[in-house]
Amino acid sequence: MTSYFTAPVEQTDPIIAAALNDELQRQQNQIELIASENIVSRAVLDALGHEMTNKTLEGYPGARFHGGGRNVDIVEQAAIDRACEVFGCDYANVQPHSGSQANLAVFFATLKPADKVLSLDLAAGGHLSHGLSANLSGRWFEAHHYGVRKDTAVIDYNDVEKRALEIKPKLLITGGSAYPRTLDFERLASIATQVGALFLVDMAHIAGLVAGGVHPSPLAHADIVTCTTTKTLRGPRGGLILSKDASWRKKLQSSVFPGVQGSLHTQVLAAKAICLGEALQPSFKTYAQQVVSNARALASSLQKQGIDIVSGGTDTHIALLDLTAIGLSGRQAETLLEQINITSNKNPVPFDSTNPENWVGLRLGVAAATTRGFKEEEFTGLGHSIGQVLTADNSNRAGRVATAAAISKRLCQDFPIY
Ligand SMILES: *Cc1c(COP(=O)(O)O)cnc(C)c1O
Repeated sequence: MTSYFTAPVEQTDPIIAAALNDELQRQQNQIELIASENIVSRAVLDALGHEMTNKTLEGYPGARFHGGGRNVDIVEQAAIDRACEVFGCDYANVQPHSGSQANLAVFFATLKPADKVLSLDLAAGGHLSHGLSANLSGRWFEAHHYGVRKDTAVIDYNDVEKRALEIKPKLLITGGSAYPRTLDFERLASIATQVGALFLVDMAHIAGLVAGGVHPSPLAHADIVTCTTTKTLRGPRGGLILSKDASWRKKLQSSVFPGVQGSLHTQVLAAKAICLGEALQPSFKTYAQQVVSNARALASSLQKQGIDIVSGGTDTHIALLDLTAIGLSGRQAETLLEQINITSNKNPVPFDSTNPENWVGLRLGVAAATTRGFKEEEFTGLGHSIGQVLTADNSNRAGRVATAAAISKRLCQDFPIY
């Protein structure tokens, strides 16, 4: 059994070892502009690969269903305390295995099957776990959606109010995956109060911006807040449920376990505690400020190249490109950027086609490359590269791709990871 406990994966499973190694190289040699990604610290990686993964535990610190939980108790309590400190709240559940699981647990705590929810439309930047018909949230609950204004691409708060009055949802939800503007939590909370709805803010994408003080916090306005620990919070894959209102505690605790989950991902709890500790450092504020400033630099550089940016700019880490005017689909743009070592994803823009193949949006996010060390100068350059490649024609495309690919390569060398 010696080799079982000591042999590295390179020896025991060459196929997987090669994929793991290639993935690290890919990350080192590509510029990551997928808005939901980031690059975690070595300390977070250490926790994720730790022997703590062997420990099975259910329940909560001090009230477990298995023995031997002393060390995990320390880890989970630290994660809870740090989450409360980072976000200024009284209640945190750090167990959700993902953002979707966190939302499911909130649905389980607040709704009965067939109850009505009102959430941001997917094409306007919403998330599938907020009532998409193909998701459990849309299958088991009656989901209605609000959108953005056609002229500004900003949430149409008057329309939210009108729909809320008509529909009388039990739960009003805001937050999304491709909404680039500051959310008006106060306005939405007052609409929820007006119609007697509970108010859930899913701040998955912007949790790191809230933690860093560059986006208003939803905690004073929402009954419950969910988020992922990935994305701008720069931690492991997983979710959090937060509330300033401790009266939710009992319901939310039992909704996560045994409501929708069983045992803990113990090693992930350690990684969550570490990333939340990092978010408490003054350097995280600097990071969050740099993220917003970089996103603005990228958006304005793209605009100078003649590319339309949805809503005319950004307040967050996201620049959402509308490619209608340059006649490309999101998929084509994604493929072109891949040729210049930039990873991105096609996305709907507001009022876009429902068929992903026809989407005309491309979503870019700056959180990961900012972690790498890119500043405004690098993002202005990237905006130029991307604009050149997306607006090229058959006569000049190959040359522009070659130039841009060389610039990307150089940037990856100048800003190494791990
Ligand atoms: C990413 C995201 C989620 C889902 O998180 P997973 O960890 O992928 O399940 C939920 N809500 C929003 C708004 C998101 O952006």
